[in-house]
Amino acid sequence: MDDNTQNNQGSQQIAQQGQAIKAPSAPSEPVHQTQPTVSPEEKLAKINREAKEKAAAQRARELGMSYINIGTTPINPDLLHMVDPQIAQKALILPFYKLGKKVRVAVADPQNPETLKVIEQLKQQGYAINVNLSSDDGLREAMKLYESEQYVVKKEIETKLDEEKIKAYEKEIQDLQSLETKLPTLTSEEAVYLINIGALKTGASDIHFEPEEEDVEMRFRIDGLLHSIFRIDKTTFTNIANQIKYQCKMKLNITNEPQDGRYSFLVNERKVDLRVSVLPTQFGETFVCRLLDSQRHVASFEDMGFTGKALAHTRQMLNIKHGMILITGPTGSGKTTTLYQLLEKFSNESNKTITLEDPIEYHLKGISQSQINEKRGYDFANGLRAILRQDPDVVMIGEIRDLDTAETAAQAALTGHVLLSTLHTNSAIEAIPRLINIGLPPFMVAPALDTIIAQRLVRKFCPACSYSEKISAAKKEELQKKLDLIKNMQPSLELEIPDELPTAPGCPVCSHTGYKGRIAVVEVLDVDNEIKRLILEKASSTKLIEAARKKGMMTMYEDGVIKVIQGLTSLAEVHRVTAISV
Ligand SMILES: [Zn+2]
Repeated sequence: MDDNTQNNQGSQQIAQQGQAIKAPSAPSEPVHQTQPTVSPEEKLAKINREAKEKAAAQRARELGMSYINIGTTPINPDLLHMVDPQIAQKALILPFYKLGKKVRVAVADPQNPETLKVIEQLKQQGYAINVNLSSDDGLREAMKLYESEQYVVKKEIETKLDEEKIKAYEKEIQDLQSLETKLPTLTSEEAVYLINIGALKTGASDIHFEPEEEDVEMRFRIDGLLHSIFRIDKTTFTNIANQIKYQCKMKLNITNEPQDGRYSFLVNERKVDLRVSVLPTQFGETFVCRLLDSQRHVASFEDMGFTGKALAHTRQMLNIKHGMILITGPTGSGKTTTLYQLLEKFSNESNKTITLEDPIEYHLKGISQSQINEKRGYDFANGLRAILRQDPDVVMIGEIRDLDTAETAAQAALTGHVLLSTLHTNSAIEAIPRLINIGLPPFMVAPALDTIIAQRLVRKFCPACSYSEKISAAKKEELQKKLDLIKNMQPSLELEIPDELPTAPGCPVCSHTGYKGRIAVVEVLDVDNEIKRLILEKASSTKLIEAARKKGMMTMYEDGVIKVIQGLTSLAEVHRVTAISV
């Protein structure tokens, strides 16, 4: 039977988990023609199906994706529980193979927002998703399993409210491209709202309006990089600009001075704040609007990329009752996310938590957040002194920039407070000489410090277009050398160089970059007694690093190499971010 052949092929493909499935030129070539006679209708249906599979295989080739003939692939019924049947049928996505946390899914359209949403949800549950293209018919056939006895619906209570809400506004803008033509026909209030919604939907952190000679370019910052969205004619832009200024209570008649403002908008009862900065330029005012989504999901340390010793120490650190925890890195390194993550973990009902921020990026429940106002003398140092009179247990200050702040912060850490803050340094170790250079004496630095975390963000391979590929002997050797060096420091590390690693040619989903989403590469310095002693002895950075390395501290670069070997990102990406200077 044709079906058997296909089944075998299917199992073989599955056996080679993670490997690219080469799209066959003719997906279902019958091997032997010993079938009983079939009716002309059945024959026609079969021919149609074969044509569809062929088209799907062709499309997979074009998109640089793996193809799967899902209709003939055996599927473990347990996997059917991974996605709600109604959602799976609507989004045309089906998990068909699972090994540990690695899951392969078949999709009919890798660009379908519904499909992408399901993939994103699976990823949030901690799965590594490998996306394979299938024909619609194949998927529908496979989904008949949902009606079979093998599938027993597990009753799960889940709120679909959020889903529905999101759908309501997603319908508003089918895609951003259609918005471009719609803009001039909308009121400026509607236009601004839809652009904001578009930014939220794409997960953008900032909206940039950049006037040029002829027109205005609008770009979104997504995953840390700017993406051109569309161009707006100058008349439409003037209306949009005035609308934004009006909402921020800025002066409409002033166009030759920088202005800052803030406003918020509601998306189905969810409040999103925007911080707006306007700057006069040669061709008009440029606008940068940062989205401060107060209800944004705060990721777990694991989701953020903390693993091994770094993860273990970070978790342990949450039990301390006093001490200073610093997060270092340049702008865009994800420090703020980690800071808020820590803040959320530290704060609980029996703890009083106060923050001093510039500006307040996310509103957190149960935490008193205050905003500095330098014009009124409420700067980090003054604000911190005021906060300490409020008898807090946990204090977060946005950044340590001067001696005054550093001293007050160190004193707070020494007098029974947990103090969280950030510092602009390249590495974790560098935070120590930085504090000393600011003027904080070693006898305060040493006892105050508890942990220093340094981090960068690397982009992850796009789940829609990445596929595994055999790596060259040279590449394998290169990675092996790096891994051997890491293993010298971390003898307990269980990691081998695989034969295959992902590669992503780029697709519309990832704006042809091959990357989608980001993960942190981190180094966590435990300021233990040995390090404290070295600080008091005014030891050099080299000595400090040596001591930390002896205790097994991994550098950001090494953490990045591990993530490359784990197939999360590329070596080029790790080099890109770890070469950044502050
Ligand atoms: Zn892609």
